[in-house]
Amino acid sequence: MYEKPSIQRLYTGLMNKFGSVPPKQRIRTHIDGVSIDDLVEEYGSPLFVFSERKIRNQHKRLRDAFAGLYPSVSFGWSYKTNYLKSICSIMHQEGSLAEVVSQMEYEKARALGIPGEEIIFNGPNKPMPILQRAVDEGAMIHVDHLDELDDLIFIAKKDKRQISVGIRLNLDAGISPQWSRFGFNLESGQAARAVERMYNSGHIRLTGLHCHIGTYITEPTAYGQQITKMAAFAQEMETRYGCNIEYIDIGGGLPSSARLKGTYLPPDVSIPPVERYAEVISDAMNAAFPHNQQPRLILEPGRAMIDESGLLITSVQARKRLADGTRSYVIDAGINFLYTSTWYKHGIEIDREVPGPSEHSVLYGPLCMNIDVVDEGISLPALDRGTRLIIGPVGAYSVTQWMQFIAYRPAVVLIDQQGTTHCIRGAEDLSDIELREELPAHVQIGQTKRPIAT
Ligand SMILES: *Cc1c(COP(=O)(O)O)cnc(C)c1O
Repeated sequence: MYEKPSIQRLYTGLMNKFGSVPPKQRIRTHIDGVSIDDLVEEYGSPLFVFSERKIRNQHKRLRDAFAGLYPSVSFGWSYKTNYLKSICSIMHQEGSLAEVVSQMEYEKARALGIPGEEIIFNGPNKPMPILQRAVDEGAMIHVDHLDELDDLIFIAKKDKRQISVGIRLNLDAGISPQWSRFGFNLESGQAARAVERMYNSGHIRLTGLHCHIGTYITEPTAYGQQITKMAAFAQEMETRYGCNIEYIDIGGGLPSSARLKGTYLPPDVSIPPVERYAEVISDAMNAAFPHNQQPRLILEPGRAMIDESGLLITSVQARKRLADGTRSYVIDAGINFLYTSTWYKHGIEIDREVPGPSEHSVLYGPLCMNIDVVDEGISLPALDRGTRLIIGPVGAYSVTQWMQFIAYRPAVVLIDQQGTTHCIRGAEDLSDIELREELPAHVQIGQTKRPIAT
C-alpha cells in the first residue's frame, strides 16, 4: 500500500526522566500455552481470554497471605467486577461468598446455586421485593441508608420477626477522595444514630459492620486505620446495645497490576504486594480485638482478584497518518470493551517480532466517536494490517461495564488448567441485540406506502 512519506522524529533509545531506555516492545504468541492464532481462528477477534490457572492461583495467594496471621478470614467475590457465570463459579469453588450490589446480581448468585446465607448484599438501592427476598433467604444485608432501614423495620413488623443486619459505614481512613455517599458516616455520629434506630424498633439486630473505603488503595495503612475505627465502633455498639458483632467486612479496593494513567513508576514497583496488605490488616484486627473474641474478617477484593487473569486480543484493521504526521491504527476493540481505558494505561503486547524503529503512535478503537481512544501515545514499530495486539490486564470490570454500541460484543474464552479452551460467552449476533425489541405492525416496512423522495 502506498503511503505518502513523511519525516518523523524517532524516539528509540532516548533517555527518559528516569534515565532508562524505553521498554522493549513486548511480544506474546501464546496465552497459557494456546497460540493467539489458534484462539482467533476458532473464536474470532476481538476476543476476551481468561486463564483459569491464574484465577485460582491468585485466589490461593490472597488466602495464603492471611494464613497464620488471623484465625477467620473469608472472601466475598465482588460480582460487579466480573459476573460471568464461569468466573463466579470458580471463585465460589475457591471458597468465596457472593458479594452483590443489585437485584440483578442477587438473582445471578441465586441462579448459580449460591444460598442466601452466602450472599453479602451491599449497594445503595435494594427495592422492596428483592430486600424481602434477601431477608427471607437469610442474606447478609448491609444497610446503606435510613430509608432502607425503615423498609427492613416494615418487613420485620409485617412478618413479626427479628432481622439481623450489617451496617455500611463510611469513614476517614486517611485517603482522598473520601467516599461518603455509601452507608452511614462514622465520625459524625450518623452511624450510631442508625443503630439506635435499629434497637428502638425492637426488630433489628446488628451483627456485622461493613466499609469499603475506595478502590485502588495503594497505601495498606489505610486499612489499618479503617479497622481501628470499625473496631472501636463495634465495641461501643456492643456495650450500648448488647449486640454481638460477628464479622468485620473491610470491603475491597486492593490494587491490581494495571497501570493508572499519570503514574510514572510501573505497578510492580509502586504497589505493595498483597502479603503486605494482609500483614497490616491482620495486625490491626489482632490489636483491636481480644484473642478469644475475634470476629470473622471478610474482604471483598475485586480487581486484585481477577484483573491479571484476563486479556483482550484485538487486531489492527487499518493504519493511517494523522494530519500532523502521527502514525495511528484502527483496531477492532475500543472503549466499548475497554471502559477502563479512561483511567488505565493498558499494557499492550504484539503477536510478532517487527523489525525497524518504533514510533509514537495512537491506537483508535472502531467506534464512530472521537473519544474512542485505546492509547493516546504508545511507542510501536510499523505494524501490518492483521497484527494482533494483546491488551491487559483486563480481567476486572471489562466484561461487566462493556457497552453495546454499534458493535457485537465478542466471545469470552476460558483456558482451563490443562490448556483446553472453553467458550464461556459466545460472540453476539443481531438476535442478541434485537431480542427484546418489538416492531408494531403499522411501522413495518412494506405495510404502508413510502413517499418517494423528491
Ligand atoms: C466494587 C466493590 C468491591 C470491589 O472493589 P475493588 O476495588 O475492585 O476491589 C467490593 N465491595 C464493594 C461494596 C464494592 O462496591
